[in-house]
Amino acid sequence: MTTNPEFWRDIPAIADVFKPDAKPEVYTANAATDDMRYYVPLSETVFTRPLWISPSANKWADVLRADKPGLVNRHYHPHEVFAYTISGKWGYLEHDWIATAGDFVYETPGEGHTLVSYEHPEPMRAFFIVTGPLIWLDEQGGAAGYFDVHDYIKLCRDHYEKVGIGAGYVDTLFR
Ligand code: FE
Repeated sequence: MTTNPEFWRDIPAIADVFKPDAKPEVYTANAATDDMRYYVPLSETVFTRPLWISPSANKWADVLRADKPGLVNRHYHPHEVFAYTISGKWGYLEHDWIATAGDFVYETPGEGHTLVSYEHPEPMRAFFIVTGPLIWLDEQGGAAGYFDVHDYIKLCRDHYEKVGIGAGYVDTLFR
């Protein structure tokens, strides 16, 4: 008799997985793919692959990517940001740490920063959970515009339509 090392094989799965009003999970294979069609330009040099979008919470999760030194202009976050670094090298001009693979970052609501990616053999790829809006800042630190989940959705829809994935792909990420 052999013993299956996956000792949980005989445990039955829960029969009623979802409560009546719960929405299905999001599963995305190879979230940090190298298929560049999935990356939406956020700036001239930094791209975002949306993984999950909550219009009602003004919140999204994405893989942020830059294949070369990149920049996302200065902005202010009234809400929190979480990040986990998959590859490459990135940071903020305002802090002295530089994040590489495996590094975690939490930014407290009330922080302004300028995101940069460094030259590195691997692309900068980081998983982010962002609560909008981002408030774009001018050089004096004043508000120069904003970017929230609705701008994010439009940016993603337009890009996916253009590259042939179809704008509707974005709607499959809404929860
Ligand atoms: Fe930010």
